[in-house]
Amino acid sequence: MITLQNVHKRFGQNHVLRGVDARVDNGEVVCIIGPSGSGKSTILRCINGLESYEEGSIHIDEKMVDRQSTHLRQIRQEVAMVFQRFNLFPHRTALENVMEGPIYVKGLPRTQARDAATHYLEKVGLADKMSSFPQQLSGGQQQRVAIARALAMEPQAILFDEPTSALDPELVGEVLAVMADMARAGMTMIVVTHEMAFAKEVADRVLFFDQGVIVEEGKATDILNAPQHPRTQDFLRRVL
Ligand code: ADP
Ligand code: MG
Repeated sequence: MITLQNVHKRFGQNHVLRGVDARVDNGEVVCIIGPSGSGKSTILRCINGLESYEEGSIHIDEKMVDRQSTHLRQIRQEVAMVFQRFNLFPHRTALENVMEGPIYVKGLPRTQARDAATHYLEKVGLADKMSSFPQQLSGGQQQRVAIARALAMEPQAILFDEPTSALDPELVGEVLAVMADMARAGMTMIVVTHEMAFAKEVADRVLFFDQGVIVEEGKATDILNAPQHPRTQDFLRRVL
């Protein structure tokens, strides 16, 4: 359902994406791994139209993603994003943060938005934190609110950009557990992560990204246990 063909992206002279081809099917969980600066965030941002690209094409089903596209608003509803920093509204409660999208983007009546937000906060294990403000929550809880906010849009796919990188180590597990539940429930997910154990357990496929291209891809266990490309081998030696 998400298809990338020969995608190129430059920031000035910096040729960041150099011909990316990929396909993510419905219900698939794909982890993207690779060194810092290789273009992992940029590719996610291109997929949901937060960044433009110059060459190639990105499609969500039959809809092409590009800055001029009339589909862009719709694409942002269908493809949600969870960031490293949770970007919650500080003066709104967890419940209000999750209600925001359904009300203002999807146009749901307040009562329906409240029901949806309650449902998804329960799903991420925060039934008892609905009326807490972000600063009263741990980083792991804030990230789970951010995930509930993405789920409340009822998207077709969710993109995660290093969702646990900003967390204290003891809070990483609770967020990964919620993500593993979503994967089991059939959500289509693209996850940029350094959590190799998560990738091994949860991902259907792993893409190794380096210098703006996919250097190697395959089943998570194959890529992580027996990488073929020297650049993948070198990267994994450094992170594992
Ligand atoms: P990764 O997520 O793999 O660490 P990024 O996609 O963030 O890599 O960045 C890839 C390259 O693009 C880097 O060289 C980075 O400096 C550059 N870059 C990213 N965003 C911007 C931007 N908004 N303006 C200019 N350069 C950018
Ligand atoms: Mg990044």
